Amino acid sequence: MSDDRRRPGQHESRRDEALGRWIADEVHPFCEPVRAQLERAGLGRRGLRTGADLAKLPVTELADLGDGRRHVLEPTAERIRESAGIGLRGRLLVADVLGRRDGFARHDIDAAFKPVRWTADPHPAGTLFAGSTGTDLERLGALGRRALAVSGVTPSDRIVCTSEAVGVGALQLELGARDAGVAHLVLDPADERVIEAAAPTVLAGTAATLERAIGAGLPTSVRMLIVHLGSTGGGDLRGLRRRSGRPVRLWWAPAGVRAAWATCEADHLHTWPEHEHLEVVDDAGQPTDSGRLVWSAVGWRGSVWLRVALGPHGRVDRSECTCGRTTPRVLGAARAPRRASATAGPRP
Ligand SMILES: [Zn+2]
Repeated sequence: MSDDRRRPGQHESRRDEALGRWIADEVHPFCEPVRAQLERAGLGRRGLRTGADLAKLPVTELADLGDGRRHVLEPTAERIRESAGIGLRGRLLVADVLGRRDGFARHDIDAAFKPVRWTADPHPAGTLFAGSTGTDLERLGALGRRALAVSGVTPSDRIVCTSEAVGVGALQLELGARDAGVAHLVLDPADERVIEAAAPTVLAGTAATLERAIGAGLPTSVRMLIVHLGSTGGGDLRGLRRRSGRPVRLWWAPAGVRAAWATCEADHLHTWPEHEHLEVVDDAGQPTDSGRLVWSAVGWRGSVWLRVALGPHGRVDRSECTCGRTTPRVLGAARAPRRASATAGPRP
């Protein structure tokens, strides 16, 4: 069974299986700001076991993360000895006994925990830097493959993505295309003659770039557009659909999330329940049907934050989509009552 079509409840149980151990073995030991957050809430290293426990943490505003760089997992020898998972602690002990600390630092720490790819996501209060490790990039590639499938892209497609689309969505598309075996070309700049010569079946880019390509006349080979909404969203998507005469899929990564969400053929924005926990809360931080979208990482390395209000408002529908997928969908995220122009998202 594909990860997107599991029975209701299975997504959550898989997430919860990973969550408690990840918090206890990696996040609490190695991420100082999140450790302080857990301690203030009285949860300590092992008090957070399920997604529901996250509600015991206060909601953090995106602006309170600063530029995000303090939120990186930093496994020092001291922290590993004090409170890392037993596997890592044991390997450090063996390395010290055998005098192989350098090899341990290289293979067990840098290879697993060092952020090697950064993305910078602008949002109304500043810019958020998110670091990804090698394992994060593998995960992002797998989520890119799933997002391509959600969007209806197959290995026989040819994608051209314009380089103006930056950030996590564009990276996820590139890694996902590699993972899924889909031909992918990045163009800089988006020259219409080169696009024509490349004969893509899928053209991806920002709303503004796609508008220009439509204005210049889309090659007849193009059967679908993918709009990277970037971190702040926006763009005249209905107009893009109308003017292009093609199906338009959205890939949207609001600042703070680690992987873009993607729309299916039913135009619903699917999320990644094993890799994130999404809540909808009111202004007092209480659960509600329609309100602020609050996001927590699950299982990521590099940058980690929990219970961050992303900015956009919306709803989360956990019922099965008409496309057959059972992953939660974000609905109505563009209808934010506040700062709508700055935080407008897609309108699925
Ligand atoms: Zn769907």
